[in-house]
Amino acid sequence: MAAERKISSTSLREVFDGSLVGITVHRGFDILYANDRIAHLLKYDDCASFISAGDLGTHIPKRRQRQIAERWRKIQNGDEQPERNRVSNYTTDGDEIWLDVSDERIIWEDGEPAVLSTIYDATLAVRANESLLSSLRHLEISLDSILEFIPLGIAIFSDVGVPKTVNSTMRLLFQASPRQNDYVPKVMQELVTSIVNSDEQELAVKGVKTRVDRVVDLIARRMADDAIMLCAADVSEWQDTQDKLKTLAERDVLTQLLNRRGFSDTVKPVLRQSVEKDETFAVLVADIDFFKDINDTYGHATGDETLIAFSKRISSALRSQDIVGRVGGEEFAIFLPKISATRAEAIAQRLRKKIEKTPINVYGTSINLTASFGLKIWEGGTEPRLRDLLQEADTALYRAKDTGRNRVSIA
Ligand code: GH3
Ligand code: MG
Ligand code: MG
Repeated sequence: MAAERKISSTSLREVFDGSLVGITVHRGFDILYANDRIAHLLKYDDCASFISAGDLGTHIPKRRQRQIAERWRKIQNGDEQPERNRVSNYTTDGDEIWLDVSDERIIWEDGEPAVLSTIYDATLAVRANESLLSSLRHLEISLDSILEFIPLGIAIFSDVGVPKTVNSTMRLLFQASPRQNDYVPKVMQELVTSIVNSDEQELAVKGVKTRVDRVVDLIARRMADDAIMLCAADVSEWQDTQDKLKTLAERDVLTQLLNRRGFSDTVKPVLRQSVEKDETFAVLVADIDFFKDINDTYGHATGDETLIAFSKRISSALRSQDIVGRVGGEEFAIFLPKISATRAEAIAQRLRKKIEKTPINVYGTSINLTASFGLKIWEGGTEPRLRDLLQEADTALYRAKDTGRNRVSIA
């Protein structure tokens, strides 16, 4: 069975070279990988010169270095969950820039854990915010005229939460018509109402999806005169990066099915819920019979196409709530929630027959396939570990292989 999926520099390069989002993989301050975007943000010529400089520490304010090193260590060990933070960093010129950074644990191509940081330039948003606040203090320019030019969604509400001004960026982000000057979506109004009714100086809602498919972070702040300022920062690019990274880490490139890690991450919460609700579920594993012969007879490319066709075939025969993953070369795992023992066995038999009866057509060649199955049914008790269930299903699968293949064996 395959180990936890690794992320390689090649796959990161394919997806993130030329991206607006900076990416770096590192252990502590040692840089293992970076794209051009982060190098440019920190004022290097390109990623090669950034990587060869090799020390992330030089860009982090001294007072925060220890704390950040500690956080990265915890993330790398899997002791802390990823979170997005806005932090200041220094460029090679010593300029301070603001970055939205998120860090997460990955397994790097050398097989060891590392931290992958994605970085989005927030300097413009922070500066705009600062200049807005200082202009408000000095009242040098009229508020409305600054608001219109700021690349940050801004809305001002009275101390009791009545909207006063909504700038054009905010209207664009939420697609309100320019004529509806007082347009305020529900999520904004709710946030403002919450801060009005609380003692907080600041409240935020992250990752709000707008009607124009942008993803924004909303922050409501109480100002000196108790009026409320609401800022919306567009984090769509960041969200898009997170989605791509998740796909990269959790999906198998060939079949687009979940890989072992994706399968396990997706199944675990469903498994827990099933146990809580005391609902019977099953874990089914499948392994194609004599797959090596297909590679040997028709070549590896045909073998690959066979795997794709096999994946589609099993996926299309399952219910929408069933979870399928490719957990090894020609090994698949299926989680069947809320199912009786008889029904789970019937499904396994149906899959087996379907594969046996209909040959797979690849490059004009008709290939006959069979597969062996191992089935583990959970019918109550304390919460089992997914790993153990897969292990038991696997043992049953080996028995199916030993007793002639093309059969379902129950653990
Ligand atoms: P058995 O019935 O005992 O399962 O026999 P088998 O030949 O299927 O089993 P074995 O595990 O010996 O061989 C699995 C083969 O699957 C070996 C490997 O080359 C092939 N394989 C694994 N991953 C891929 C892949 O991504 N593409 C292709 N084309 N072949 C793969
Ligand atoms: Mg096999
Ligand atoms: Mg195998």
